[in-house]
Amino acid sequence: MTDTDLNAQLAASQAEVDNLRAELEETNRGVVALYAELDEQAIQLKKATELKSRFLAYMSHEFRTPVSSIRSIARLLIDQVDGPLTEEQAKQVRFIQTAAIDFSEMVDDLLDLAKIEAGRVEISPAWFEMVDLFSALRGMFRPMLDNHAVTLTFEEPHGLPRLYTDDRKLSQILRNFISNALKFTSAGEVRVSARPFGDGSVRFSVTDTGIGIAQEHLVAVFDDFSQVDSPIQKRLRGTGLGLALCRQLASLLGGTVGVESELGKGSTFFVTLPQQLAVAERQE
Ligand code: ADP
Repeated sequence: MTDTDLNAQLAASQAEVDNLRAELEETNRGVVALYAELDEQAIQLKKATELKSRFLAYMSHEFRTPVSSIRSIARLLIDQVDGPLTEEQAKQVRFIQTAAIDFSEMVDDLLDLAKIEAGRVEISPAWFEMVDLFSALRGMFRPMLDNHAVTLTFEEPHGLPRLYTDDRKLSQILRNFISNALKFTSAGEVRVSARPFGDGSVRFSVTDTGIGIAQEHLVAVFDDFSQVDSPIQKRLRGTGLGLALCRQLASLLGGTVGVESELGKGSTFFVTLPQQLAVAERQE
């Protein structure tokens, strides 16, 4: 090969390298621009989420006072403090009362969700025994068991170590699971249990013999405002926020929630928490 050929080949390779470098630089610029755009979008999204949480928190807070006035006045009317009501009037006031209770439950759930999303929820962990939590829950639900065809059973939490977590938040999760189970079970049993699970965790389960949930709806039940369409659902109150709140509370406590269900047979809702809340989660 002559020098001229060699030089020509070198020049061609150099040109190719230059081309490739130029292409690479262009791609790099594109990637950098994309990253900047993504960062910008992430900032916007964070701002939007913060605004939404703040709006929800303010709104729910502002709603509390008027709703509690409606509830108190309905109570006074039902108690006939200012004179008797006709049967029809009493019925109508009870509708107002039920609607106001629904509304204030929704406002409470929204406020809790907004507080969690805004990172404004304090976790207060302490050591406690499961037996105590179960007996508090048993006492809480006893007056509400008006359907004699359903029994509510708390299994003795044998062999469970003491727990270090926020017992009020755990209790809030279990109360939601239990009241749902009672709501969607017309006959049979609602059973609450706690068992050691995996390495250093505890699983709390609420099993019912109620209407169950079809497989295609299972993935969504923990989403905000999710309600499964069913004839029983139409008759019952609810906001579709309770389970979303449970999921958020469980994750605050370093755990997870889940459900197994069979349509027509019943459901098991569970929450799995570390026996001892980790230091990092405590400081969140
Ligand atoms: P709601 O206020 O409607 O009860 P939740 O978030 O607590 O809201 O529950 C969401 C939906 O999940 C309910 O509306 C119901 O369709 C379904 N669900 C929850 N628990 C049960 C259960 N134990 N059995 C059958 N369906 C349930």
